[in-house]
Amino acid sequence: MITDKLRRPLGSLRVSVTDRCNLRCRYCMPEQDYVWLPKQSILTFEEIARLVSVFTSWGVEKIRLTGGEPLLRHDLPTLTAMLAANTAVRDLALTTNGVLLARHAAPLKQAGLGRVTVSLDTLRADRMRELARTDRHADVLEGIRTARAAGFSLKLNTVVIRGVNDDELGDLIEFARKHKAEVRFIEYMDVGGATAWSAEQVVSQREMLEVLSARYGAITPVTAGDISAPAERFRLPDGTTFGIVASTTAPFCRSCDRSRLTADGTWFLCLYAARGTDLREPLRKGATDAELADLIAATWRGRTDRGAEERLALVNRAPLFPVEGLRADPHREMHTRGG
Ligand code: SAM
Ligand code: SF4
Ligand code: SF4
Repeated sequence: MITDKLRRPLGSLRVSVTDRCNLRCRYCMPEQDYVWLPKQSILTFEEIARLVSVFTSWGVEKIRLTGGEPLLRHDLPTLTAMLAANTAVRDLALTTNGVLLARHAAPLKQAGLGRVTVSLDTLRADRMRELARTDRHADVLEGIRTARAAGFSLKLNTVVIRGVNDDELGDLIEFARKHKAEVRFIEYMDVGGATAWSAEQVVSQREMLEVLSARYGAITPVTAGDISAPAERFRLPDGTTFGIVASTTAPFCRSCDRSRLTADGTWFLCLYAARGTDLREPLRKGATDAELADLIAATWRGRTDRGAEERLALVNRAPLFPVEGLRADPHREMHTRGG
């Protein structure tokens, strides 16, 4: 195990398999056009599996496949099987917008994927058209049903935005309960790419709990099992549980063991980090596993990142990067870093 300057272990890795996406969620990709990572820079499955094995040699046990939209990457079950074959990976998960999930759920289950998180911001197709510029709401719901039928444990991620979907909290809890899933409400974050972000649109954890208590009665916190997990979990009087990721108003950087590998092999120590470490170049230049392991260890040992906590201290909070800054370096985008 290695720890950083704040004694946080290197515990989980989010692996983005593509920066492309078939949706345009207004909190993530609100612009009309984007600069993409060059095709030849995208890691092959073999390269991803090799880097993951170096990370697991340092104690990483949790891997989450993400994107962009990970199901746009051709033949994801093959990569899943390669990662599932790594016995050090104890938790292999996927975050998807669900549009293509119905088609891929069973092959992914067979390949050894353990858990699925589907992003579902609204139960209303008309709202999703506005929010994500898509007509595929029914496909997302079908993806959720199919994933449950395939035997996956399911979480639903909802980014809550004032005046957009903040009137659906209870309905989303009901929907999740019906589908034997657990919903996690995420505060709208001012990450790279969220160029339409403003503080007024953030619905805080406190406010969400007030709204839900008014509907359901007393809500109790669930005692934390995994202190590095980003969501705080709560229980309704009838036992139904849900989570809130309060990354904007009550960040959890002190226990953050997460890092992110982009589809082109750039390793970020924090969602808000200005730059990452290029692992693709040494990999393609023939570095040995030991050399890659040394680079990863030296980088992690120097980590001091507390991005969300530092943002919280700002007086006038505004989007992290202007559009021109994002165009100059697409690595700054949330859809490149993988969320
Ligand atoms: N495309 C997949 C999806 O949407 O599930 C995976 C990638 S997406 C970047 C991962 C997660 O980041 C999603 O759950 C999404 O809701 C979340 N996300 C993106 N932008 C966000 C923002 N500005 N604030 C909070 N969460 C955000
Ligand atoms: Fe939406 Fe995920 Fe695509 Fe971002 S990457 S636009 S959150 S579906
Ligand atoms: Fe971890 Fe950075 Fe997020 Fe804080 S802002 S929880 S350090 S990724």
